[in-house]
Amino acid sequence: MSFNIEFSDRLKKLPPYLFIEIEKAKREALADGRDVINLGVGDPDIPTPQHIIDAMKEAVQDPNNHHYALDAGLAALRSEIANWFGQRFSVSLNPETEIYPVLGSKEGLAHLPLGIINPKDKILLTDPAYPAYRPTITFAGGRIMNVPMKAGNAFLPNISKIAEYKDIKMLVINYPNNPTAATATKEFYQDLVDLAKEKGFIICSDMAYSEVYFDGEKPPSILEIDGAREVAIEFHSFSKTYAMTGWRIGWACGNETLVAALAKVKSNYDSGIFQAVQCAGIAALKTDPVILDDMRGLFQDRRDYLINGLRSIGWKIPSPKAAFYVWAKIPKGFKDSMETARIFLDKADIVITPGVGFGPEGEGYIRMALTVPVDRINEAVGRIAKIL
Ligand SMILES: *Cc1c(COP(=O)(O)O)cnc(C)c1O
Repeated sequence: MSFNIEFSDRLKKLPPYLFIEIEKAKREALADGRDVINLGVGDPDIPTPQHIIDAMKEAVQDPNNHHYALDAGLAALRSEIANWFGQRFSVSLNPETEIYPVLGSKEGLAHLPLGIINPKDKILLTDPAYPAYRPTITFAGGRIMNVPMKAGNAFLPNISKIAEYKDIKMLVINYPNNPTAATATKEFYQDLVDLAKEKGFIICSDMAYSEVYFDGEKPPSILEIDGAREVAIEFHSFSKTYAMTGWRIGWACGNETLVAALAKVKSNYDSGIFQAVQCAGIAALKTDPVILDDMRGLFQDRRDYLINGLRSIGWKIPSPKAAFYVWAKIPKGFKDSMETARIFLDKADIVITPGVGFGPEGEGYIRMALTVPVDRINEAVGRIAKIL
């Protein structure tokens, strides 16, 4: 007897992966030995700071760290997170009930819907958005509605538009934003929290880029708003802040019930974060501020070289205030974001991300990541000058 093995309906329901063609072309270019400049990846090109690696080395030698970790992680990690949060945002979180470690914020964001969404619940997502939110909400049975983010409103969703939706279960927001690099103000968060309380919806805030900001302007947390803890959960990550994308560690914090729902889902899926990685996380949270200033300085320099370079060849792009991305309207004469990405790769050996991959509102834009050194950025500007 033989039968056809098929993917589940839930998996089949996912939209096709838009970047497949670009990915293929990129792999071919690399295999052909072309000198590709990759402005496509959202992963810092710098190594994890040495003191974090040293903490990991020491912790991995200790047999106490070799066992299943506790679901909620080391108490020392949660209290260090509370400490960090207090210093950074002047918000005091209870490490027992309001903080929960996750295997990278993507994992936490992915599992939260299973704990709070019922089939057919309405979920608002911004458009454009980080692509990882959508599938996991679909898996949980949620119905996704897109709220556009427009340049004219500083890439913030319009609060009065959100107010028009009925029976919303949850809204997902992400500032500093990937892909637009926009930041949120406290006034925006205040209005959003007021609306969420009035209408009874949950706010899920993804703050993976909290420490990647420029010109000294620190982005606020939604938890700084009075009453936010009644409606909001916020995800934080070590990945971008400490160049630790491969280590898989982050945390959720905020509303106790939301944190408890996530914890309960996770207890059925994973068995915590490798304890040595948690020890490295504790060391990371104690990082000398100078190291983080240097990291921001590095990305800010690259930003300035790219923005000024492109301006000098006639492509004017607003300077991002945070996150390591440049979100640019496609140059004149190019048809759409896919075609632009294709031409950049074919004619200039430059990988960029087509905006449409982040949602329909991303059409007409491309995203460039500041994850290559300044000499490569200058080289990229030179090559772009030739194809414009
Ligand atoms: C990189 C990124 C994440 C994922 O971070 P991890 O903690 O490494 O899982 C989450 N949200 C956004 C918007 C990101 O760009």
